[in-house]
Amino acid sequence: MLPTVAIIGRPNVGKSTLFNRLVGKKLALVDDMPGVTRDRREGEGRLYDLEFKVIDTAGYEDEDPQSLPGRMRMQTERAVAEAQVALFLIDGRAGVNPLDEEIARWLRSSATPVVLVVNKAEGKQANDGIMESYALGFGEPIAISGEHGEGMADLFQALLPHI
Ligand code: GDP
Ligand code: MG
Repeated sequence: MLPTVAIIGRPNVGKSTLFNRLVGKKLALVDDMPGVTRDRREGEGRLYDLEFKVIDTAGYEDEDPQSLPGRMRMQTERAVAEAQVALFLIDGRAGVNPLDEEIARWLRSSATPVVLVVNKAEGKQANDGIMESYALGFGEPIAISGEHGEGMADLFQALLPHI
């Protein structure tokens, strides 16, 4: 059985971009529970010589904003409960927002270890976001660019103890 990595975060922080980078083309849509399939994607991820199952908690972009937090919470908690480690993504350019803080609260009440990841960190535009992110309480963040593939060695080092 492969260990499981859950990618968590509010919409638009870059979860699916990172998922695609980790999984490449070996994408699978698997879930038997009704209503779940369109909310998440699973695939076999690889980072250097680490292999793992990866879950992208996905696709609320068309949702009524009123129902978003409830659905997100369900998906987040379900994915995190299955995972050996959760990658909690924030958007380093946008900085920490109230929804990030709410997700941080959900994650704190879970037993699954959390790696805080500041995405969109190519260039220097994420520097303020990186500093702000310490306040989320998950220690030193890993700065990456899922789109450009930066920070993958640091992400590997952060995952290594957990999988
Ligand atoms: P999700 O809603 O969390 O799954 O986010 P997506 O992966 O769909 O990405 C949301 C937007 O952020 C898209 O326009 C991406 O191209 C962009 N994005 C994702 N990763 C990066 C990154 O590393 N740097 C920058 N600048 N943009 C990114
Ligand atoms: Mg997505």
